[in-house]
This record gives sequence, C-alpha cells and structure tokens, in this order.
Amino acid sequence: MNAHPPHIWTDWQAQQRAARISSADLLAAVGLSAADFPAGVIAAPEFPLSVPPHFLSLIRPGDRHDPLLRQVLARGEEAAPQPGRLTDPLAEADYRAAPGLLRKYRSRALLIASGACAIHCRYCFRRHQDYGETMLTRSREAEALAAIAADSLIDEVILSGGDPLSLPDARLAALVTAIAAIGHVTTLRLHSRTLTTIPDRVTPALLALLAGTRLRVVIVAHSNHANEISAEVAAALGRLRAAGITLFNQSVLLAGVNNDAATIAAHCRRLFAAGVLPYYMHLTDPVAGAAHFDVGEAEARRIEAGLRGLLPGYLVPRFVREVPGREAKTPLADLS
Ligand code: SF4
Repeated sequence: MNAHPPHIWTDWQAQQRAARISSADLLAAVGLSAADFPAGVIAAPEFPLSVPPHFLSLIRPGDRHDPLLRQVLARGEEAAPQPGRLTDPLAEADYRAAPGLLRKYRSRALLIASGACAIHCRYCFRRHQDYGETMLTRSREAEALAAIAADSLIDEVILSGGDPLSLPDARLAALVTAIAAIGHVTTLRLHSRTLTTIPDRVTPALLALLAGTRLRVVIVAHSNHANEISAEVAAALGRLRAAGITLFNQSVLLAGVNNDAATIAAHCRRLFAAGVLPYYMHLTDPVAGAAHFDVGEAEARRIEAGLRGLLPGYLVPRFVREVPGREAKTPLADLS
C-alpha cells in the first residue's frame, strides 16, 4: 500500500490503473506465499488480477483465509477440471438486441457501457466475456440508443459492464445525456463495484452529473463482506445519498467469503448504516473457473433462514438464482 505515491489517493483513475497486479506482488503485499494455499496460486491467469489499492489495504496481512483476498486471488482451484461449467453461464448472447444492448425484460434495457472493471472478481460470470465484441463503443452507441428510443415500453436503462463507473466523467455524462433525451425513459440504474473498491470515484463531478439529470438515479453497489465497507466507502456512499441517489447493494453468496448468517448479517447492518439497502444475494452461476465459490442450495436455505432470525425483514437480501431463459430472477424458495 505505502508503495503507492501519495497523489494516487486523490486520483481515482490512477488507482484504477494501479490495480493491475501480479499474483507474486499481491502475495507479497499481504505477507503470504503460494505455498500457503493447498492448490497453489496461478502465477499468470488468463483473467488477470486487478485489485484497487484501497481494497488491497483492507486485506488482513498474513491471513490466507481473508474474505477479501479470496475474492481476488487466482487460486489453483481455478485451473482444476470443472465439468459442466460454462463460459457464458447466463446465455447472454441470446439476449443481445443490438451491439452493447441486452434485452432480458420488457421494461428494461441493459447497456454494456464499459468492458473494464477496477477489480477482477474471480467468481465473475462475465470473466470469459470478449468485451471487444459485446460492449458499447461510441460507434455502436447510436444503434443501441435508437433501439431503446424505438421501444416505448422501456422506462429504465441499466448501465452495466464491466463497470460503468470505470468510464471517465465526460464519457459517462455524454451517455447519460443521450439516455435522458429519450422521453419514455424515467430511470437510470448503474451497477457498480467501483464504489466499494475505489471510493474516491465519488467525485464532485460525478455527484453533479448524477444529481443534474432529469432521470431518477438508482445505484446498485456490489459488495460481499462487511470488511469492504470501510470508513472511506461509507463516506462515499453517504455523498451519493446526500445527492438524492437511491442506493441498493447486491452480493454473491461465496464459499469462504460470506457463507454464514452472522457474516451476512454484519454486512447488511454495515450497509444500512451507510444508507444502503441490501437487495439481492445471488447464488453463483456455473461459470468456468469458479466452482470453488459455489454454495449449495440446501446450505443457502439454511443461511437465509438463519438471517431471518438475526435481522429485521427489510435488511434480509432476496436470495435468488438467475436461470437462463426465465423472465425474472428465481427466488431460492422456488428452486427445485
Ligand atoms: S466488478 Fe462485476 S463485472 Fe467486474 S469482475 Fe467484478 S463481478 Fe465481474
């Protein structure tokens, strides 16, 4: 951490650039070695490591079980044979309505606004995606926006990725302005893991941009453990709340990270204290290379029941699984 020059802490883009790290340097930064992990560590994984300095600062040195480290370290299990695992587990290719545009639901459209993420989560269901093919580029933008403008049923546009907050403010502002020009769109939703990994991303310029649009703005943050909600992250979330942004959080239920009720309850309380409502708890998708994060449905049901005894109902996230071909996410209770 202290290896970074001081200016980096006021420059979110410098932090984003500094996130690329080798396995060896990550292990050295947290005082561990590959021998600390039973299946070893992949030295140069195809899905490269990316760990923003702030997130790295929250990993407990010397703790190979640290829940934040587990999310970003390419452990040897990734390379083990994983029958039945897929590179596009949600069959997103079937939902591509135009380059950069996914239509899964009648009233919502999702734009793959960026192919970049500050952090690379080892469990990511899009870890094999070729964003060169799928993301919205300036040249593809007109076609995607025209498709949204042509369908008056769409009242909400979701910016996803990658991570839309990895975009520079000017690019994001142009996109938001273009979406706001479509009269039947009322709501803009951003899905972002940057908020909880580079809290300095919440700049005055970003706040002005989001508070200044005519659209209602909803941000769905992505965090998985209370240790991610540092004082800096809580302050960034507070700035967004003060700007009138509605904030939710979605998590993924991950073995070795948050697969017990007490851990999730602590996370939900920390989120609520920061003005964020827990929304979804996703069961993992069968993506190739991430089987070691799976939590079975029976265990998930036990955890969900345990949470109901620990939290008020409004703080218990909805446990769901995304099933390709279904109109909506499937609640855990409805999975057979
Ligand atoms: S930030 Fe989201 S899209 Fe990016 S690697 Fe993590 S889970 Fe995947």
